[in-house]
Amino acid sequence: MDRSEVAQAALPGARSHRGRRLSVVIPMHNEEAVLAALFERLDAAMADLGVELEIVCVDDGSRDGTFELLTARAATDRRLRILALSRNFGKEAALTAGLSEATGDLVVPFDADLQDPPELIAEFLALWEQGYDVVYGVRADRRSDTRLKRLSATLFYRVFNALSDHPIPASTGDFRLMDRKVVDALMQLPERNRFMKGLFAWVGYRQVGVPYVRPARAAGASSWGYSKLWRFALDGVTSFSTAPLRIWTSVGVVAALLAVLYGLVLIVRVLFIGRDVPGYASMMAVILFGFALQMIAFGVIGEYVGRVYEEVKGRPLYMVRERVGFDS
Ligand code: UDP
Ligand code: MG
Repeated sequence: MDRSEVAQAALPGARSHRGRRLSVVIPMHNEEAVLAALFERLDAAMADLGVELEIVCVDDGSRDGTFELLTARAATDRRLRILALSRNFGKEAALTAGLSEATGDLVVPFDADLQDPPELIAEFLALWEQGYDVVYGVRADRRSDTRLKRLSATLFYRVFNALSDHPIPASTGDFRLMDRKVVDALMQLPERNRFMKGLFAWVGYRQVGVPYVRPARAAGASSWGYSKLWRFALDGVTSFSTAPLRIWTSVGVVAALLAVLYGLVLIVRVLFIGRDVPGYASMMAVILFGFALQMIAFGVIGEYVGRVYEEVKGRPLYMVRERVGFDS
């Protein structure tokens, strides 16, 4: 997207961010290596914006010194609030926890590893002033990702948007600026399965994207392997579409029709050509194929039933071990 396009599409209702409270929400899992650089970049980027900054750090069960470093910092930095979860609940839960604690008029979820450049927040604010309630970053250049990761991401967005009634813009992450009313709307969604990108799209409001180049991690290592990404993709699709569940009716009908046709062909053959005993290979092929289809269908139903079970249990999304800096 061209930036001038965005500017021309300005909405009425100008407002100013000066003097507003802005909450940055940062989920952290074993991020001790980047903390110093993170706060330095964040401070530099926010210095001249004229907003009152609140930094909500969610320690998502880190096993390194993340929490200790944060508390040491909080002793001298009154903008810092630390929410330590009782164990690792995953990024989506950590982000939800942080969003529910953020008190800002404006809220920006942010990755600890500086893959979301804080300098972009100034641009987000300018668009918010033009009347947009959600300004999200679009990863214009994913050179820092491996080819396989880019390919799987493209494929995921294709499949997701084909199936879901609430398309998510390709190559967006959680990095975005949200108006208070959008955060309140998000907090009203009760589901346990927090596929944030999908929820962000579902709530609606006036949204606009800003392209940016996503750099590589500043330090430390990504905690997302491919198996975790696969679970994440399944979570996303299943919580925003029931198409995978319903498609089996059509597949079943087509398979049954084909079976009837093939049965007729066989009967006609026996009547006119005679009995045909060999045919083990074709028989096995048909049986195995049908069996595999059934297994997939069962598996898909299992994915949904499992998630229904998770929702029905109604357990809290996360447990808080400690809160630092919230009283002030
Ligand atoms: N994160 C988290 N809990 C987890 C995994 C990750 O809070 O279980 C945080 C992590 O500290 C970082 C953000 O989520 O701030 C993004 O994680 P990461 O950089 O590992 O993901 P990637 O950028 O590779 O998608
Ligand atoms: Mg990262």
